[in-house]
Amino acid sequence: MNNTCYGKLIFELSKPGRRGYSLPENPWTAYSTSQLPEGVRRQTAAQLPEVDEMAVVRHYTNMSNNNFGVDTGFYPLGSCTMKYNPKINEELANLPGFTALHPAQDERTVQGALALYDKVQRTLSEIAGLSEFTLNPYAGAHGELTGLMVIRSYHLSRGDHQRVKIIVPDSAHGTNPASAAVCGLQIVEVKSTPQGTVDLASLREVLGDDIAGMMMTNPNTLGIFETQIPEIAALVHECGGLMYYDGANLNPMLGVCRPGDMGFDVMHINLHKTFSTPHGGGGPGSGPVGVRKGLEKFLPNPRVRRDEDGTYHLEHTDTALGAVSAFLGNFGIIVRAYCYLLSMGREYIPMAGKLSVLNANYIKERLKEYYNLPIEGLCKHEFVFDGLRPEYGGDHHDPGHVTTLDVAKRLLDYGYHAPTIYFPLLFHESMMIEPTESETKETLDAFIDTMKRIAIEAKEQPELLHTAPHHTPIRRPDDVKAVKAAKFVF
Ligand SMILES: *Cc1c(COP(=O)(O)O)cnc(C)c1O
Repeated sequence: MNNTCYGKLIFELSKPGRRGYSLPENPWTAYSTSQLPEGVRRQTAAQLPEVDEMAVVRHYTNMSNNNFGVDTGFYPLGSCTMKYNPKINEELANLPGFTALHPAQDERTVQGALALYDKVQRTLSEIAGLSEFTLNPYAGAHGELTGLMVIRSYHLSRGDHQRVKIIVPDSAHGTNPASAAVCGLQIVEVKSTPQGTVDLASLREVLGDDIAGMMMTNPNTLGIFETQIPEIAALVHECGGLMYYDGANLNPMLGVCRPGDMGFDVMHINLHKTFSTPHGGGGPGSGPVGVRKGLEKFLPNPRVRRDEDGTYHLEHTDTALGAVSAFLGNFGIIVRAYCYLLSMGREYIPMAGKLSVLNANYIKERLKEYYNLPIEGLCKHEFVFDGLRPEYGGDHHDPGHVTTLDVAKRLLDYGYHAPTIYFPLLFHESMMIEPTESETKETLDAFIDTMKRIAIEAKEQPELLHTAPHHTPIRRPDDVKAVKAAKFVF
């Protein structure tokens, strides 16, 4: 397809000595390379393709045309909230008044930026039902780490040194145990009930005075609303622990209910999911962390403070965590969130959550005849199928069955991004679908028709699915081989 120049890869177009630029001789080259210590200097030249400028331009332009993004098609990637990112957010974040700021500028010259930070911080506090947010962390996982460090600081400040364990449900996103481990905490897993929610009996068994807290996601990664949070929070608080809320799934709760009211003490939000910043491909992101009253002093430095006279300054205190990011984090993402919050306003923010729930349930109900729905009932913004139903070739006891991977690959042929697959780990053939509120009914219907068509293909021509995709620039890579026999050309 289009990732080549007349059928050739850029390395194949390379001709020794061909250049895309001409620069005058640089008198400093010899000097600068000799300054590099012997051990880090490369022995052989990098094997870069030697090509003309036009070939480079075509190479990258054609590659970009092969990209898939939420701006090119439907992207039902569960756990990622790939909603539409209104272009006005981009325009405003690109205003020179924001982009030309220098982070080391005198506070008096950046009052507008500090005011914006403070307003986003306050709005998130209101949406979450908490006291104060820091917008400094760079991503969801970074927010988790920051939030857990706040929890640890709180216990240490009380001389509670033995609280080294954190409870994490088995349905949690992988970043939860990872962040806890980076924070130096030991992970205690609690099981889910067959209905997909946290099992209280199994929780009671692990509670004690060595528990720092519990991390929970609501709706959890199965898209199910955890209705027993008040009881769970009471149990954890009774034993002296704090409740951490993984707010990456905040979308369906927007303006409907608040983590602070449910009993959570610390949380993060993914601005690059819920508050409409483009994501995928690794960032940049933003993972603000909020805390309930009494925990504010542990939030990281610097904090934006509003003075009596309406001016702002940055505050550094000794009780705070220290800096978790450079300056105030990814400021452009905060500007985008501000635009989104203002354009949605109090009136439409609650609609985003409700519509995301309606869209997910619509797809689930219309496809459950074809795909296994392990947990019946109302879901929130996303749901999980456990592969194709047996009558459509999905019986996983049959070694030749059509797998979730096969279905995901076939979706690419039809121009859709695949759902999240094989996560959560609770089922054999997980397929996690999240449509978000941004999509029209026509888009949802077309996706549903495609998923039905794939189920019928799976029944009638399973080989077509086992060998999919058929129409993409790259066919099915051998994932295992790609990892084990990775070849680096540089
Ligand atoms: C996306 C996600 C995270 C991690 O966020 P990153 O910004 O990717 O680090 C954590 N928990 C849940 C439930 C998520 O969906």
